[in-house]
This record gives sequence, structure tokens and C-alpha cells, in this order.
Amino acid sequence: MSEDIFDAIIVGAGPSGSACALKAAEGGANVVFVERGDYPGAKNVQGAVLYAKQLDAVVPQFWKDPEFPGERNVTEQRAVITSGREDWVSVSFRGGRYKQEPPNCFTIIRCQFDRWFAKKAEEKGAQLFTGVTVRELLKNNGAVAGVKTSEGEDLGSRCVVACDGVNSMVAQKLGVIDEWRMDEVAMGVKEVLELPKEKIDDRFALEGNEGLTIEFFGSISHGMIGYAFLYTNKESLSVGVGAKLSDLRRTMIKPYDLLDFVKTHPYISRLIKGAKPLEYSAHLIPEGGFHSMPPLTGNGFVICGDAAQMVNPTHREGSNLAMTSGQLAGETVVYAKRKNDFSQATLQEYERKLKASYVWPDLWEHRDVEINVEKDPSILEVYPRLIVEALYHHFTVDGRPKAVHKKETMALFLKERGLLKILQDAWRLRGAVG
Ligand SMILES: Cc1cc2nc3c(=O)[nH]c(=O)nc-3n(C[C@H](O)[C@H](O)[C@H](O)COP(=O)(O)OP(=O)(O)OC[C@H]3O[C@@H](n4cnc5c(N)ncnc54)[C@H](O)[C@@H]3O)c2cc1C
Repeated sequence: MSEDIFDAIIVGAGPSGSACALKAAEGGANVVFVERGDYPGAKNVQGAVLYAKQLDAVVPQFWKDPEFPGERNVTEQRAVITSGREDWVSVSFRGGRYKQEPPNCFTIIRCQFDRWFAKKAEEKGAQLFTGVTVRELLKNNGAVAGVKTSEGEDLGSRCVVACDGVNSMVAQKLGVIDEWRMDEVAMGVKEVLELPKEKIDDRFALEGNEGLTIEFFGSISHGMIGYAFLYTNKESLSVGVGAKLSDLRRTMIKPYDLLDFVKTHPYISRLIKGAKPLEYSAHLIPEGGFHSMPPLTGNGFVICGDAAQMVNPTHREGSNLAMTSGQLAGETVVYAKRKNDFSQATLQEYERKLKASYVWPDLWEHRDVEINVEKDPSILEVYPRLIVEALYHHFTVDGRPKAVHKKETMALFLKERGLLKILQDAWRLRGAVG
């Protein structure tokens, strides 16, 4: 065993790990964060939209840092509902005020962002070990007391913070999670495509540092729970799609075939035309949400971010919950150090902080959305089609009175779904749009 007994060993240097390391070190705790990749971000995949408010809480006014590797400041966000291959409805929101401070979110490339973020934690005094995998947990009188690494070294600590992502080895060794069920995780596949800045600006009507994100729902996911995305970076585009593993198994669709289907969709193929593939990646996304969260604390341990299933898939949010949970875990390490007590009773401060933040309420609010869709997946096909039909009637000028179009639209809605069912669906899916 190494001579040092750290206040905390943080496993993983993703958004949750770096936020935790930074806040703990800033508060005076003696912490190390251990990353299996050769550098932070080497193994990480994200769409990637990164939220400013949660990063600002850890690195104040980060956007003024000349080294911050933000790609574009997202000023416009668009949702496209697809029906078949040729029909779609889009809703776009441009927030001009996001150009002023504070910004709302940035597109990023994870390998650059994770490196920058980990460096910020190191600057506060956290030690970073890279190329080191945590393999086992050390215990003392039933409490977690350190880790055993791939280098064969034992590192002692007063607590271990699991920030090791969706397939959390730490949570599995703690016995608080098993293998995830197939309906608790989605597979996300993504390509980065190179395209000159001027072409991106022209095609997406952007200027300077402005960025646009587009999410695609409906027929594009082949009736599976999931969505596709297209995000603008400085000189590249991120295009990807995610679907639940249980749905991929049921439909026998291979993730890379799904991505090909997405890239050839007429809306997308025109926007990515001539772009050169730079990188392909695939990663699991935890989607069990509130119902799948493991116990978050115990004697000598805390669990954060994806390791604790903290993703809000109905709003494409994961990195923000990871950063906030990491921040609150870091603050809790400092609190426990001051109390000189790393028992569960003290570490439960983390759960109190999560409940007082947006993390717990958001996960609670959206807890049943995917379960309800799974009970009746036809929702994913019926509503996009009905919305498209309603707009088809609205925009088609065919010499018939408007009242006839309205009547036909209403009749179609009632035939396909019925008033009671529509009200039930609205109630069951309320978390998805709220
Ligand atoms: C395709 C895709 C698109 C996404 N898009 C978005 C998006 O646009 N916006 C958004 O907010 N979220 C998005 N997410 C979700 C987001 O990426 C995650 O929620 C976020 O990365 C979670 O951060 P984390 O720190 O908890 O885990 P991770 O980012 O997974 O980091 C875990 C770290 O731990 C390391 N590690 C794992 N095991 C060990 C070990 N035993 N020893 C040492 N190190 C270890 C890993 O190498 C990794 O660096 C997306 C995810 C995917 C897959």
C-alpha cells in the first residue's frame, strides 16, 4: 500500500470525475483522480452538447478562458419530427440572448474538453493518474478504504467516488448494481464529419461562433425509443443516433446500419454532403433513470453521473447531471474531511444536496416517460404521422373548403387514437415535453 492515505480517490476523469476532483481539491481535500485512458477523454463519447451553467458552477466564467475548447456557442436548437422518409415537421428556437453572457450551451469534442477540464482540477491541487485502471476496492471493517489498480498498486483513501461511467466497475464491486438490463441502456453511435467552416455557416445559416443543434424523432428511429442528432462544430459536424439495446435486439437492427439510415435521410444527407468522416465511435448511455439509480452513498463511497444512471434522455442531458453530481460529491468530501467522518451518515450530505438541486427533481419528474412509451411504442409512429397529416391538410390548397380539411383531420385523429387515448397519452408523456 502506498504511504499516502488520500481523503478521496475519484475513479474516472470524465465530467463527473473532474468536477468532483476540482471541488474537493479547491476545498482543501487531498484527492487523486484515476483515469484508465492514456489521457482524459481518450475513451469518451458524447454528442456533444455541454451545458454552461453547470460548468460555470465549477469553473466560473470558463468561456473567457482562451484555452476552453468550446466548438460553437449554441444559439439555435431544432427538433425535427419525421414521418416516413419524405415528410417532416420542424420546430426551431433561436435564442439571440445566448450570444450575451451567460451562454446556455456549447458543442464540444470530448477528448479536448475532458483534457482541459482535468487540467483545471489539477491546477486546484488534485493529482491525476492516467493510463491506470481501478480493478478492485479495498475495505476496512466493511467500509471502502481504497482501490487496487492495474499497476498492482494499493491506494488507500478515506472514501472512493465512483465517476467511472455507465459500466461502473466500482458500483459493481460494491454490489449496488448488477449488469444493466437491456432496457436500462441505449447504444449511441456517432461520426464526426469534417466540413469547412464557411460551408457549415452557409448550410446552417450561422455566423461567427454561432452553433445549431438538431434532434430528429419519429420514423428515423424505426419505431425504437431513441433519436438522431446533428450538431455543428467549428469545422466538423457530429451526426449520430441512439436506441435502447432492448429495441435493437427486438428489431435486429445493427447500430451502424441505423447510423447509415440516418445519414441517408433526405434532411440530413443534404446537410452533410461532401463531409469527410474523421472518427466513428459507439458508447452506452444509461437510460434507466430514477428507477435504476443505485444507493448513492455508503460507508466510504459515493456514486456520481452515468455510474448512477443520472441521465435525462428526454432532454438529451447527461453531462450536466454528471458535472453537478461530481461538484456536489466534491463538496461532500470536503464536508466529511471537516467532520473527520466518512461514514454513510455524513456522506448522505451528497444525497441531500442532490435533492436540493435540479438533478433529483428532474430525474423524478421524467421517471416514467420511457416506461410508458415502452408499454405502447406505437406512440412513436402514430403521432409523427398524425402531426404531418394535420399540417398537410393545413397547407394544401386544393379547392376544397378549409372546413372540410379540418373535419378530415379531426376524423383521422379520432379514428387513429380517439379522444380519451389522446388525453391519456398526453398525461403519460407529460414529462417528455415539460
Ligand atoms: C453518443 C452519445 C451522445 C451523448 N450526447 C450528449 C449530449 O449531447 N449532451 C449531454 O449532456 N450528454 C450527452 N451524452 C451523455 C454524456 O456523455 C454522459 O452523461 C457523461 O459523459 C457522463 O459523464 P461521467 O463523468 O459520469 O462518465 P463518463 O463520461 O463515461 O466518464 C467516465 C470516465 O471513467 C473512466 N473509467 C471507467 N472505468 C474506469 C476504471 N475502472 N478505472 C479508471 N478509469 C475508469 C473512463 O475512461 C471515463 O473517462 C451522450 C452520450 C453518448 C454515448
